[in-house]
This record gives sequence, C-alpha cells and structure tokens, in this order.
Amino acid sequence: MSKEILDPLVISEQQFDRARSCINHLESGLIDFLKLPRRICTVNFPIELDDGTVKTFRCYRVVHNHVFGPGKGGIRYHPDVTEEEVVSLAKLMTWKCALVEIPFGGAKGAVICNAKELSTNELRRITRRFTSDLFDVIGPHIDVPAPDMYTNEQTMAWIYDTYDVLNPGKNNRPVVTGKPINLGGSYGRNEATGQGCLYVTERFLSKELIPELSEVAGARIAIQGFGNVGKVAAQAFCHQGAKIVALSDSSGGIYSESGIDLDEVVAFKRSHGCLVGLPGTLTLTNEELLEVDCDILVPAAISNQIHAGNANNIKAKLIVEAANNPTTPVADSILKSNKVYVIPDIMANAGGVTVSYYEWVQNQINEQWDLDTVNKRLKQKMYRCVDSVFLRWQAFVIGEEECIDRESGEKIAYPDFRTVALATAIERVANATLVRGIWP
Ligand code: NAD
Repeated sequence: MSKEILDPLVISEQQFDRARSCINHLESGLIDFLKLPRRICTVNFPIELDDGTVKTFRCYRVVHNHVFGPGKGGIRYHPDVTEEEVVSLAKLMTWKCALVEIPFGGAKGAVICNAKELSTNELRRITRRFTSDLFDVIGPHIDVPAPDMYTNEQTMAWIYDTYDVLNPGKNNRPVVTGKPINLGGSYGRNEATGQGCLYVTERFLSKELIPELSEVAGARIAIQGFGNVGKVAAQAFCHQGAKIVALSDSSGGIYSESGIDLDEVVAFKRSHGCLVGLPGTLTLTNEELLEVDCDILVPAAISNQIHAGNANNIKAKLIVEAANNPTTPVADSILKSNKVYVIPDIMANAGGVTVSYYEWVQNQINEQWDLDTVNKRLKQKMYRCVDSVFLRWQAFVIGEEECIDRESGEKIAYPDFRTVALATAIERVANATLVRGIWP
C-alpha cells in the first residue's frame, strides 16, 4: 500500500476539492484565489541567548484571505513547524471565521523554536523581535495575532507592549487577542476553545444522530492533549456529567474505566510535570489513547493523529476535533464508512476565535464584558454554527441538494460534516469576494 501523504498543503487541497463536490457553482477564476495565501512573510533574526551565545530564529506570518476583515490567527512556537503548515493553518482560519460569521480573514504565524528549552527572558526577546520585525504587517485592522501552541497570554502581552511602544498615542489593544485580563483580555478567552467544544458537542448530540448518545451527561470521553484546550474541554465535559476515561500529554496517557478525577490530574501534573503515573490509572501511549473504548474522542494536541493506519481501530462513535487538522482525508473516508461522525476543527474549536473576536470588539469600544455575557454569546454562536451545518447536511441526505464527485462525476450519497462545513465557508468567502467587486 502506498504511504499516506501527510503534507499539510496537500491535505488542505484534498479537503478543498472534496468540499467543491457540495458547491453548486464556484467561479472557476476564483479557485486559485481561494486556495492560495495572500501574503507570506518570512523573517530570520538573531537573538542573544542567556549564556551569551547568538542563535538565528526563523518566523512566519501568513495571511491567507482578508475578504471579511483583518487577518486573524494564532502564533505557535514549535521546533517542527513548517511554512506549509502555517499556510494550511491560515487557510483553516479563513474557513473557520467565515463559518462562524465573524468579520475576520484567516492568518497564522510561527516561530521555529523549542519553547520548552528557552528561558522566559529568551522567549520575551524572541517575541519582541518577531513583533518589531513584523510591525508593519500586523495591526488592529490589518492582522491580529493570538496564542496557539506554546504561546500564551504572557506572549500576547509582550506583543501588545512592543507594538504599543512602536506605535504610541493610539488605542493599540486590539492588535492582539488572548491578552491578560488586566491588559484588555476578555473574560472567558482562555477557556473559550474548550468551552466551545462542549457547546458544539452538546448541540450536535441533541440532533440524535447517534443511537444512545444524545447528551454529554454519561458519555465516556478520551482526550488527547492536556494543554489549554484539552484541559478546559475535560473540565467542561466533566461539569456536564461526562466521564473522562483517558487523557494524555506529550509524554503519554492514562486510563481509568471508572473515570479520572481532574483535580487529581491537575495536582499531579503540577508536581510531576506529566500525567503518567497518576495513582489508580493505567498507562497508555498516545497511539493507544486514540483507540480506547469510549463514546467521544477529543484530539486536542497536534495534527495527523487519526490516519490511514489507525482510523479503522477507532472505537469512539464521535470525534470532536479540538486540535487543528487531527484527521487525514484518508481517515475521514474510513471513519465515514465505519459510521463514526466527526465534528470538524472549523466547528469544534471555533470557540477560541469567536471569543478572540469578542475581545477585539471590547477593546475597540473600551469595555469589558462579564464572563456570563461572553459565554452566553459564545454558546449562541456555537449552537447557530452547528444548526446551520446540520441543516445543510440534511439537505444533502434527503436529496434537496446534490453532492457530485468532481473526478468521477458520481453522486455522493451524503457528505461528511467537514465537507459540508468547508463548502459553506468557501461559498461565503467566494460570494463576498464577488459582491465586493473584483478590483479595480
Ligand atoms: P498547548 O500547547 O496548551 O497544549 C498542547 C497539548 O498537547 C499539551 O498537553 C502537550 O503535552 C500535548 N502534546 C504535544 N505533543 C503531543 C504529542 N505528540 N502527542 C500527544 N500530545 C501532545 O496547546 P493548545 O492551545 O491546547 O492547542 C492544542 C490544539 O488546539 C492545537 O492543535 C491548536 O492549534 C488547537 N487550537 C487551539 C486554540 C486555542 O485557543 N488555544 C484554538 C483553536 C485550536
């Protein structure tokens, strides 16, 4: 069997092409515009490390599309990040913002570095240099960064401060979201992606598509990744009466059939730096975690975790993609034929960018909403997103709309939710481009 292609750009191309099967008409001259990034900035800069040596770092900031508004997307610090990955993630942000109807385009950034091996001072110097080198391509109405893997509210505070020093006399708070609360951050932003996952899941389950799984309460859940998103998602699901049976971080996973106590996990992780070894739990590898017997699997770590090699072994009835791009297109096809439903990343983790948008709005009007207001609005937005994708999916299932494979010309009985969600988002961006009028 040929090896599965895991190149992020190839995957996003395949997903785009699948989505086209659900789009009735797409102006052919727009296809490249929709697929290609608008701008890629690459910067290499030297940083003096704490031991006095100098190291050169490479960073990227990509804006994929800005038809609906300024670029919006996280900045990740990771040793393995590539330009292709950043472009594909920027693209995903375009579709995500269009799907949840917030006035942003898609962007993403990265610094190739191992944050775990850098001191706080080194990270601050990298962040300030990154921001000053990209000073003229970010801005409240140009491109608005946010946290992603191995960046956090401290990183955002440094970005804001650097931008503000370079651009004095203006309200610069909306230049970045995910800031600390006392610097204009929004209540609920830290928790928004995990909390949004819960809202999307409960709304999806309420459609009663999955026999014997119509609510979160009582569901057995496995979560890969215990960072910002995985941890909050675990707490939110637990709060609604679900049982967390498996959890992992980069050093491995834990399992307990009777359910894992999250307070104990948090305390153990704080003192030991990992989850493995928590008393009363069995040890799993990250690969084994994905295949445990559970109702809902939540990948909340890195991309390409569910692939051709393990998709057939997934026992969950529903996958909720808290992480970006955790499932490959080949795995999508296998899961569909095994009747495993997938709530795709552009729906499942859209809570983060939604509350980022709320933070940006609060900063523009110099207000701070309370947590209740933020969560009410978030829930409404997530529910509306699930409802609109579900309605469209039903239209394909009952034959009101047709899904035609572009290559074979054959009718597809019913598409998966990723394909429907992507098609909806792509159509919105294409239509907005045409309504704005091709310039000049
Ligand atoms: P994080 O850095 O806080 O946490 C990442 C977690 O994944 C950690 O527990 C880490 O130990 C674990 N991990 C890393 N490598 C792993 C591996 N090889 N196998 C298993 N686990 C591994 O990051 P985060 O903010 O929680 O983001 C997680 C995912 O969610 C990413 O894909 C990110 O793009 C996506 N996401 C995050 C947000 C957000 O608001 N933070 C929004 C949308 C999407």
